[in-house]
Amino acid sequence: MDPRRRRLLVLGLDSVPPEFLFERYLPRMPRLKTVLDRSRFGTLLSTDPPITVPAWAVMFTGMDPGTLGLYGFRHRRPGSYLEMYTPTPQMLRSPPLWETLSRLGRRVAVIGMPPGYPPPTVNGIYVSDFLTPDGAKDFVTPASLVPEIEAIPGGYDFDITFRAEDRPRVERELFAMTRKRFALARTLWQKEPWDLFALHEIGPDRLHHAFWKFFDPAHPRYVASSEYADVADRYYAMLDEEIGAFLDHVPEDVTIFVASDHGSMAMHGCFAINQWLQQQGFLRLRTRSPEPGTPFEQLDVDWNHTTAWGAGGYYARIFFNLRGREPEGRLAPAEIPALILRLTRELGAVRRPDGAPLGVRVLEPAQTYRSVQSDPPDLMLYFGDLRWRSAGTVGHPGLFLTENDTGPDDAVHSFDGLFAFADPRRPGTEHLPPQRIIDVAPTLLKHLGIPVPDTMQGRPIAALE
Ligand SMILES: [Zn+2]
Repeated sequence: MDPRRRRLLVLGLDSVPPEFLFERYLPRMPRLKTVLDRSRFGTLLSTDPPITVPAWAVMFTGMDPGTLGLYGFRHRRPGSYLEMYTPTPQMLRSPPLWETLSRLGRRVAVIGMPPGYPPPTVNGIYVSDFLTPDGAKDFVTPASLVPEIEAIPGGYDFDITFRAEDRPRVERELFAMTRKRFALARTLWQKEPWDLFALHEIGPDRLHHAFWKFFDPAHPRYVASSEYADVADRYYAMLDEEIGAFLDHVPEDVTIFVASDHGSMAMHGCFAINQWLQQQGFLRLRTRSPEPGTPFEQLDVDWNHTTAWGAGGYYARIFFNLRGREPEGRLAPAEIPALILRLTRELGAVRRPDGAPLGVRVLEPAQTYRSVQSDPPDLMLYFGDLRWRSAGTVGHPGLFLTENDTGPDDAVHSFDGLFAFADPRRPGTEHLPPQRIIDVAPTLLKHLGIPVPDTMQGRPIAALE
């Protein structure tokens, strides 16, 4: 077949660990199994940090997060201490697959690939992602499709509120969101024979965060025999039904690429990074005895005696109070290397409540990435291989929290995502060794017969050619 005529369908399933799809829930996913039975598949090693933004962008640009200028869901506004902004697709420093194809005149449809708001203009359709603000009307290009998407029964859902105690509501909304996403996907798929159709579903990620302790006996706070014991079985079975209903419309000659951006695992707890920085003398507060769980934004910080502060999330972002950069900066650039050494040494001595070392990985963006664009944190910290989240709040009785400080959450991210590549020219199935997420874009470009730019950091995966 003429490679220029190859068509590609991408099914992006956020946060799904390889063992879930390839083993644990596979018996409940007969339609996905038919794809795996004609796929080369395996573990897809995520990026640093293994978070939805930047991981999907790395997958579809073939560039690292620093070079793209994406470090997470929230970036700090330069020149401010606490003002944060959400990265947009327009910020990407390298073109994702759909942009490259659009420039070549090929037709693309993309649903929800993050970062996806505001939706970029492509040669086709782009529906924005789970970061779409509530009530936004500019969620699709071309805008003429707004009424069609708004007409989806019950209203189209970009995301749900998943950090909530009302789990019956979370479950109801989660299942409804995924079903609506696939309903929209089927409608858009049938509009024309797209060269690239890419769908992102955030549902599995929300399932894991909201319900992990109910279905994983190894979770430190496992809740046995709850009504949610089988919620993951039911979710993955429903997901398979939706995938199956979609595949009913997909001709045999379309290449299918199934992937996740990272995996998930049980959250062990949180480490209160700002409380630790305060205890060690890096951060000084004027607020006396803050209430347990006080957000950093509500504190009166003595910036004149502060060298570093942090932010919460799956990993900790550390910022230095640099002269000439921060409003009340006090550190000279020459003092930074010694500060990093001291932080690294003192973090290395942190022990968990059970007495074992926490294990803190310290990443400097300039050492981690080929280049560092946009607004990076000064340091990125992983606690216990990411099993412990970073809590930015202070006033806690100790440095370790058993629950998340921003609402109930039972899961964190792991580095192992998954891929399955069903190439109609290569029938048969094969479990491959782990591959790198940054190599996906060049692999797909090559498959579509498009030259891979020399500047691209990722390289085509030989085992998928
Ligand atoms: Zn994700």
